[in-house]
Amino acid sequence: MAIFGAMIARTFSTATIRSLRVCVVGSGPAGFYTAEKMLKAHEEAEIDIIDRLPTPFGLVRSGVAPDHPETKIVINQFSRVAHNERCSFFGNVSLGSSISLSELRQNYHVVVLAYGAESDRVLGIPGEDLSGVHSAREFVWWYNGHPDFSQLAPDLKNTDTAIVLGQGNVALDVARILLRPPVELATTDIAIHALAALRESSIRKVYLVGRRGPAQAACTAKELREILAIKNLYVNIKQDHLRITSADEEEMKNNRIRRRVFDLLSKASLSSQTHPSSGQPELHFTFFRMPDKFIESTDISGHVAGVNFEKTTLKGSAGSGNQIAAGNGEYEDLKCGLVLKSIGYKSIPVDGLPFDHSKGVVPNIRGRVLSSSGVDQPEDGLYVCGWLKRGPTGIIATNLYDAEETVASISEDIKKKNPASGFASTKPGREGLLQLLENRKIQVVAFSDWEKIDSEEKRLGSLIGKPREKLSSWKELLELTKK
Ligand code: NAP
Repeated sequence: MAIFGAMIARTFSTATIRSLRVCVVGSGPAGFYTAEKMLKAHEEAEIDIIDRLPTPFGLVRSGVAPDHPETKIVINQFSRVAHNERCSFFGNVSLGSSISLSELRQNYHVVVLAYGAESDRVLGIPGEDLSGVHSAREFVWWYNGHPDFSQLAPDLKNTDTAIVLGQGNVALDVARILLRPPVELATTDIAIHALAALRESSIRKVYLVGRRGPAQAACTAKELREILAIKNLYVNIKQDHLRITSADEEEMKNNRIRRRVFDLLSKASLSSQTHPSSGQPELHFTFFRMPDKFIESTDISGHVAGVNFEKTTLKGSAGSGNQIAAGNGEYEDLKCGLVLKSIGYKSIPVDGLPFDHSKGVVPNIRGRVLSSSGVDQPEDGLYVCGWLKRGPTGIIATNLYDAEETVASISEDIKKKNPASGFASTKPGREGLLQLLENRKIQVVAFSDWEKIDSEEKRLGSLIGKPREKLSSWKELLELTKK
């Protein structure tokens, strides 16, 4: 409990200057960029970042693939923000269970929700609950040592074939991790349990299946080039799937990324061998197929044995927006023993938060949360940033621009409220938060506690030639911070 005392004392001593109390929920890129922008824009602001995990950095730690270390360098910048004397990180604090949204709003002048998208879109087709069918997010959390999914243990030994549904960058990430020689992953921060399972994996054939065509594939060129460059990979793309229509041409004319992806796919199909050689890893891009149902195995009850797809054609003109996939009544089965659904992430609402369930986002105007009263009225002091604000799209840097917009809205509102300085009413801020958490006996993880975890993970990694070995259970993480 010493941490509470020290932090509260620090808060009291500076209470007069730090009159603007801000809480950011979520310590991923959207949360840290928001905190950074707020610190710069408001000298009077004291910012607390809370996260339900004991570890900070959100999808930089749990989402970015282990073989993309360059993408994780941004952690250095976020750590500098956390070390700012006006900023604090409190991990293991869950909005909705440790503390409610209305309690946060009572304690802070400004609450910014930036807790991302921790669930998945569902297909809603028969067999989705069969074992062997996972969301890509679960699989990614598993190989990234996220404490909620380190126990997933996907079965990679009883099949040689995996189907990945969707053709976005997450689909490419999971396909690459399945196909890349494990020796190349051994020096990354991939979780040791995942590395061991991949070493023993019998999967050598991955189907990346899209409901639309190669002119609509959702991935980007750099990531596509990377997977195509896997050593000794056999790539299969059917020539007739590469025949494009004038509507496709029109779509690609308006979208350079799509054009580049299409050109890369065409080139890969021309340069690939006619047949794979024995034991060669295979990547099959399959287009114009939408999943209709998952097929249950006749050998292992309750386990997936394949996917039944309906073939599609594209409807709608490129001029009126994107063409969409429509089933044409023809069906085809594809056998497999593992399915990873990579059809997009989904945000989860909390009590008291207006939420658009169809879009999976918090209704907002430039980051100002709109009340659920039906009138376009912003909620006082409540803002949103990142995937919760705009949906699960974009790269890490997209959140920088997103945070800029949200912070600009906050600054405008503050100016309107009290043009002189700060806020008329005082709010307890950090002091109120920590008191509530102490009353509820919640073990708060401070940034200095995270640094203990960080050091230990680096130490464990150095023993086996890895940059870090993540502690991947709640118990390990929380016990280490108690020391
Ligand atoms: P995404 O890019 O939106 O891709 C989703 C895929 O799922 C699309 O192929 C989509 O097809 C398909 N899909 C959606 N609903 C479907 C359904 N009902 N049936 C069949 N297919 C369906 O999403 P993501 O791959 O999860 O990536 C999220 C964001 O993170 C993206 O902006 C991505 O670029 C970014 N990201 C970047 C990197 C990187 O830079 N290295 C790595 C990972 C993720 P349609 O197009 O037909 O809807």
